Amino acid sequence: MAYQLPEKLRNLEPYQPNIGQFHVRLDANESFISLPEDIRKEIGEKVSQIEFNRYPDPYAVELCGKFAQYFGVPSDLVVATNGSDELLFLLTSCFANAGDKLMMVKPDFSMYGIYAELAGMQVEVFEKDDSLQIGVDALIAAAKEKRVQILMFSNPCNPSSLIESREDVLKIVSALEDTLVIVDEAYMEFADGASVLDVVADYPNMMVLKTLSKAFGLAAARLGFAVANETLIHALKAAKSPYNVNTMSQVVGSVIFDHPEYIKDCIEKIRVSRNSLYESFVALKARQPKIKSLMNTKSNFVYMEVEDAAGAYQALREQGVAIRLMKNYLRICAGSEAENKAMLEALETYLKGA
Ligand code: PMP
Repeated sequence: MAYQLPEKLRNLEPYQPNIGQFHVRLDANESFISLPEDIRKEIGEKVSQIEFNRYPDPYAVELCGKFAQYFGVPSDLVVATNGSDELLFLLTSCFANAGDKLMMVKPDFSMYGIYAELAGMQVEVFEKDDSLQIGVDALIAAAKEKRVQILMFSNPCNPSSLIESREDVLKIVSALEDTLVIVDEAYMEFADGASVLDVVADYPNMMVLKTLSKAFGLAAARLGFAVANETLIHALKAAKSPYNVNTMSQVVGSVIFDHPEYIKDCIEKIRVSRNSLYESFVALKARQPKIKSLMNTKSNFVYMEVEDAAGAYQALREQGVAIRLMKNYLRICAGSEAENKAMLEALETYLKGA
């Protein structure tokens, strides 16, 4: 008999990036700020000195040290990975057995469920109510009832852009002692103080995920980080492939952390753009009844329910403006002033005419 793909792969489609010619790209929650010349030059010089015939540092010691210093956590509680995507894959494959349950909330980052299924886990979905906030007590009860091995959620949430308080996150972690609670803080730089990064060492069952793809503007370098207590970090170091982060990316990440003022400036600019985008949508919503709801964003994007969201998405696409369509919702990332303006004009024109 010929080789048969396993069931879980038969209907799985390769990830489709948003292909097309777009002059405005607000679809992938990236930073709109490109690296300045002086930092590029510094990276270039360091990359030219790499010993390319040698494998990378398996534990990215310099990079993890700089990450740890920047975030104020012990460097021996940090693991670097090839984007936080690699972490999601590793955690679902290695921190549970096939057949165990992973609970995710909905809406949330869909890759959690995809990786869990690939790892042979059963996915339990906890539906948020219309507020799109997690009902903490209900979530705890559901996770207990289903006896889940892993609970994974993003905070702030992609796509809702809303945030759960630090108290609520820690309440979940404390209540679910038998569950590994993974808090994905990819967008936390854009919020005000709900991070649980500083207390990872106090919780045996919590891991926090970070990425340099958003606030740090380094999506191209693919750098993710896990921060957790010693036992979890030891296990993660053992489970990951030895040379998972290439030396060039380690250099890029190390250089960026040498420029905290630049990072601060980027975060500030993105927040300003996000606030202005949000305010523009508040005003647009007042004029335009087709915008049904608008979430109060704590991330670098806005999320709103729109009548004929698919039509609006398509109309913008045709004008070279990429945003993200999620059923009746649009998720739109904060861009430069010119990008926001072009998108807003195109959207309002469509909504007026549709
Ligand atoms: N977590 C969340 C919540 C995300 O939105 C994303 C990217 N869209 C990721 C993780 C993956 O990030 P990375 O680029 O580090 O793989």
